[in-house]
Amino acid sequence: MAAENHNPVRFAVGVEVDALRVRACLYRADQEQLAKFRFSTKWERGPDVVMARIARCVRTVVDEADLQLSQVVAVGVGVSGVVEPGTGTVLRLLQPGWSGYPLQAKLVADLGLPVIVGNAGMMAARAAQAIDLPGETGRVLAVFQGPGITGGLLEQGKPVGDPELPFLPLTHLPLDPNGPLCACGQRGCLDSLAGGVAILRLLREAMDQGRTTCLAGHDLLGVGDWRKAAKRGDPLALELAQTTARYLGLALAKWLPLWQPLHVLLGGNIWEAAAEIMLPVARDTVLQELGPGSLDQVTFAVSQLGKAAGTVGAACAALESVTVAPSTAA
Ligand SMILES: [Zn+2]
Repeated sequence: MAAENHNPVRFAVGVEVDALRVRACLYRADQEQLAKFRFSTKWERGPDVVMARIARCVRTVVDEADLQLSQVVAVGVGVSGVVEPGTGTVLRLLQPGWSGYPLQAKLVADLGLPVIVGNAGMMAARAAQAIDLPGETGRVLAVFQGPGITGGLLEQGKPVGDPELPFLPLTHLPLDPNGPLCACGQRGCLDSLAGGVAILRLLREAMDQGRTTCLAGHDLLGVGDWRKAAKRGDPLALELAQTTARYLGLALAKWLPLWQPLHVLLGGNIWEAAAEIMLPVARDTVLQELGPGSLDQVTFAVSQLGKAAGTVGAACAALESVTVAPSTAA
């Protein structure tokens, strides 16, 4: 009946669910992205609606690539939260109603395909390491600045420590007691100071105060507007890139001595726009905090995967899940 083992071309769908969007890519096992699609997440409508939007995004991206759902071997979904390994049940996610939500089982029932749900940062970290540091067995910390902050701590290419690492300690590290209130209940944690949502807020505040920018007079629709301004060398956009890199450096200074990675990989759509000015700021901030020589054994690099790390990482996790356990569907 099933013909999947006779088909040499393997397709997977990778989905990243972040603070603002559900993004999907149709991925071929030879590292080619064939199609991309995205919806707004609409967290306020609750888990069942978000789950249905994820499933619709999967069907749409498959259709965009002129394929059938039956040609997809598995679907990977990364969420910014803590997920129970194996079952893909959400244990912790900073949105109402998600604790204990069986997202993986619901998606399997809806799509009729193997689905693996995991932490988005960890999925992205594993894909980034495979591409940027192939064969590296030492400890790697990958951090992605998108709408929010995600990341993964790896050793031998596998997650280190408990499932909450580094999501809660790094993403929600409080840095400014007078900063904005975060969904985690604290003020001024890294996520609320250095992600894309934070950049848009800072940009609006600066424009309201009359700061000069090439975006003046335009409606700010999303992080893409900031990215375009940064790529054009807009001084305000670049200043905000440095601000977020400094916050990231402060957070890294707190955790690098404990986690002791050999490599720090940085990525996400914020880095794609302004990596060359952000990298020295992040690294110098760590050095200022920890002292000269503290980074002698640590390399800093920007991931080639850019903003695709989340969706490609989820697709790679999906392909790996069916390679390791062909019958795993829940
Ligand atoms: Zn927080």
